[in-house]
Amino acid sequence: MAQLSDDCFAFGGPMMSVDEAVGLITARVSAIADLETVALVDADGRVLARDIAAPLPLPPFTNSAVDGYAVGDAELPREAEQSFPLDGRIQAGGLAAPIKPGHTARIFTGAPMPPGAGTVFMQEDVRIDGAGKIVLPPGLKPGANVRPAGEDIPVGHIALRAGQRLRPQHVALAAAFGLVRLDVVRRIRVAVFSTGDELASPGEPRAASQLFDSNRFMLMAMLRRLGCEVSDLGILRDERASLADGLKRVAGHHDLILTTGGVSTGEEDHVKAAVESVGSLVLWRMAIKPGRPVAMGVIDGTPLIGLPGNPVASFVTFVHVVRPTVLALAGSLPEPLTPIPLRAAFAYKKKEGRREYVRASLRRGDDGALEAVKFPREGAGLLSSLVETDGLVELGESITRVEPGQSVGFLSYADLI
Ligand code: AMP
Ligand code: MG
Repeated sequence: MAQLSDDCFAFGGPMMSVDEAVGLITARVSAIADLETVALVDADGRVLARDIAAPLPLPPFTNSAVDGYAVGDAELPREAEQSFPLDGRIQAGGLAAPIKPGHTARIFTGAPMPPGAGTVFMQEDVRIDGAGKIVLPPGLKPGANVRPAGEDIPVGHIALRAGQRLRPQHVALAAAFGLVRLDVVRRIRVAVFSTGDELASPGEPRAASQLFDSNRFMLMAMLRRLGCEVSDLGILRDERASLADGLKRVAGHHDLILTTGGVSTGEEDHVKAAVESVGSLVLWRMAIKPGRPVAMGVIDGTPLIGLPGNPVASFVTFVHVVRPTVLALAGSLPEPLTPIPLRAAFAYKKKEGRREYVRASLRRGDDGALEAVKFPREGAGLLSSLVETDGLVELGESITRVEPGQSVGFLSYADLI
C-alpha cells in the first residue's frame, strides 16, 4: 500500500511554492496497479488502464459528407456545366453498386461511396434539366465532400492512452471502435475526516457554540468528482489520542486519508501530534493564500493530507494538493490547470513570493470583453464567497499589484474539479 515513501521529511523546507509542492507529490506518489473492467456506459470519469489502438479505421469506409450526387473524378466538369444521366441511389447504411462511366448517382450523407466515384456535388449546387438529367457545375475539386476511410483515425493508431481520465468524447471514441468494456484503474479509496470540537454533523443536534460541518461534504463531493470511492468517517474531536486512533484505524484500508482542520500551530491543533504518534508527518507552509499550512504524512504506508479548516482555504488547497495526489494515485496523465486570460475589474495588492487566489465573478465589460469582478470580502471562512463567484483569479508569486484593466489568469470552478 505504500504510495508515499516514509522519508516524508524530504518534503520539508520552511516555505514551499505551489509548484514545488505539486512536483514533490507527483514524484513520490506511485500509481495504484489494480484494474477493473467496466461497461462503456459506466466509463465516464474513470482512468483508462491500457492504451487503445484503433481496431478499425474511422470512418470505417469512405462515405459522402453531404446529400448530393456522386461522380467519377475523371468526369468532373472543368470549364462549363455538364449534364449526367442518373444511375443509382445510395442511402446511409445501403450498399453501393459501381457507378457507370458517364453517370451520376444520388447519394446521401454517410452512405458509402460507390466504386468508381470520387467526388460528391451538394444537392444545393445542382439542377435537373428538362430531360431529367443532373446538371453539375464546373470547378469542384476531386474528392470534395467525401470522407475517406481512416481520415479521422487510421487503423492501429494509439487513439486513447493509458492514464486518460475519460470524458464523454473518449467514451464516444471507444464506442466508435465497437468496444463494450474498458479496463480502468480501480477507484481510489479515500477516508475523509473533519476535526474540531466546534463541529456538529448536519442532522445532529448543534450546541450554541457549534457550527455544522460543511468542509467534509464539500471535500467528499470534490473527491467523487475525481472518481474516488469515499469513506465518510465523520468528525474527530480535538484530542490527540482519539484523533490518532481514528487515523490508525483507517490506514491500510485506504489509498489516501484526508482531514480538514487542526493543522494550524495553535494549542488546539492536534492533527500534527496525532499523526506523529502513529506515523510520520511534515507541515508544509505552502506559499499560497488562502491556504496556510497543509500537513502531509504517512500512516502504515497510507498517505495523509491534512487541509486547513477554513472552508475557502480547504477548497483552494484541495485543488492544488489533493487533486494532483488523487490523479497520481490513479496513474492519470497530468492535468495541469490553465488559467484563461481576461481583464481584471478590480485593484489588488499582494505580497511578493506567494501565490494568491482571488474569488471572482465573470461579467461582460462595456466593450463586450470578459472581466473578473472580485468578491467584495476576503475572509477564508466565507462560504458565500465560493457560492456567489464563478472561479479564482490566479495571481502568481511575482505579482505585487493588480490594476483595473490589467490581464489576469482565471480558473473557472468548472475546470478545477
Ligand atoms: P482550524 O483549521 O481547525 O483552526 O479551523 C479554522 C476555522 O475553520 C475555524 O473557524 C473552524 O471552526 C473552521 N472549520 C474547521 N473545520 C471546519 C469544517 N469541517 N466545516 C466548516 N468549518 C470548519
Ligand atoms: Mg480546529
